Amino acid sequence: MSRHLVFLGPPASGKGTQGRRLAEEKGLAYLSTGALLRSALRDDTELGKKARPFLERGEFVPDEIMVPMVLEWTAAQSDGWLLDGFPRTVPQAEALDADLDHEPQAIILHVPDDELRRRVSSRLECVDCHRVARDGEVETCPKCQGVLAPRADDGSANFENRLEAYRRLVIPTVTYYCDRWRARIVNGTGSPDTVYARVLG
Ligand code: AMP
Repeated sequence: MSRHLVFLGPPASGKGTQGRRLAEEKGLAYLSTGALLRSALRDDTELGKKARPFLERGEFVPDEIMVPMVLEWTAAQSDGWLLDGFPRTVPQAEALDADLDHEPQAIILHVPDDELRRRVSSRLECVDCHRVARDGEVETCPKCQGVLAPRADDGSANFENRLEAYRRLVIPTVTYYCDRWRARIVNGTGSPDTVYARVLG
């Protein structure tokens, strides 16, 4: 398995759950661009101020903001890494390829829309470390004991906008990796352990 991986998939497909686990087990540095943006919003940083209107509408943050931020992060990593939620557009994928000596491999989690809607309605996230949990399963974050809360952008109108943005912008990005024989499409339905076994496979 490559030591430079990108995880793509619709919202609530399990990118964060699977990506974090794989990164931890393989000793890869991990970056979730969505979690980074939500922290920036919470802390009201310059990045947060710029990104807020897009996240509130369920739209993607412009490439001009995302690309330099992620390339700065990848440049600072001395060994392998895993990107969760980047690239999300073809220009982002092209910028990542142009910047690297090696070609990252893409893992794409596929989950049907109805299952995504079901998952998002019970999804909670740790406000500190951004680990995902299911409503009713645990009281506090299993990793850091932080407070679990629904994501502000998981309301149904926002979620449908993100699903539409996925079809319009991310599917062409999936095609970009498929055309270059650098994509693995993984069935993302079933328990996290079942999906993880498929990811490893
Ligand atoms: P996620 O946590 O991956 O579902 O991302 C949450 C939100 O952050 C997305 O709906 C976008 O608004 C924004 N975002 C995250 N990654 C990117 C990216 N690579 N390009 C543009 N917007 C992004």
